[in-house]
Amino acid sequence: MTSSSFSSLPLTPAMLANLEQLGYHEMTTIQAASLPAALEGRDLIAQAKTGSGKTAAFGIGMLHKLNPSYFAIQGLVICPTRELADQVSNELRRLARFTENIKILTLCGGTAMRPQIASLEHGTHIVVGTPGRIRDHIGRGTINLATVQTLVLDEADRMVDMGFYEDIEGIVSACSARRQTLLFSATYPDDIRKASARFLRDPEEIKVEARH
Ligand code: ADP
Ligand code: MG
Repeated sequence: MTSSSFSSLPLTPAMLANLEQLGYHEMTTIQAASLPAALEGRDLIAQAKTGSGKTAAFGIGMLHKLNPSYFAIQGLVICPTRELADQVSNELRRLARFTENIKILTLCGGTAMRPQIASLEHGTHIVVGTPGRIRDHIGRGTINLATVQTLVLDEADRMVDMGFYEDIEGIVSACSARRQTLLFSATYPDDIRKASARFLRDPEEIKVEARH
């Protein structure tokens, strides 16, 4: 039996208090299914629909593992669109509000390159962005992903549908080989099976049917 209380997880009192204040009294189904394995450092492939609470399902583990006094990119979340990247950044900021000074940078296309490069030079703990723009930064040598500990491919099926497979491949190979990789997808077509086999190591597979 899985407990649905966040307090069953090995989280800090600050994180538990924050979740309580956010009104997150119980884990959603995808959170209860993925957080124990994610907190153990396992790779995950999780199939779950929109609105099921996926951001906290990967965000809580990512924040738990993060070392705030090491100012380098430790978490990377790739999303299909700017809107989704903005939503993920906002949710991660809410989850991180009681944790000391965690910097989250959003990197999407359609915005000027120079301010993004300046922000990267200042440093950040987490990057959330779209595949094309992150690949662009890798090509220019303006981002260092060798320090990434947690890589999240959010809405992976949509990213593949939009033609981002090669960009994702480029991003994955720029990350540390010792990273943890979490792949979230609403569906599980062949391309995602292929991506999972290439990018994940002995992943735990999770499938959640209901929304909550
Ligand atoms: P998804 O990425 O699966 O579409 P989100 O991570 O955006 O879902 O979460 C959907 C909504 O549910 C957000 O408004 C979020 O704040 C809320 N939420 C997430 N987890 C919980 C929880 N355990 N309890 C209550 N609300 C939650
Ligand atoms: Mg989402």
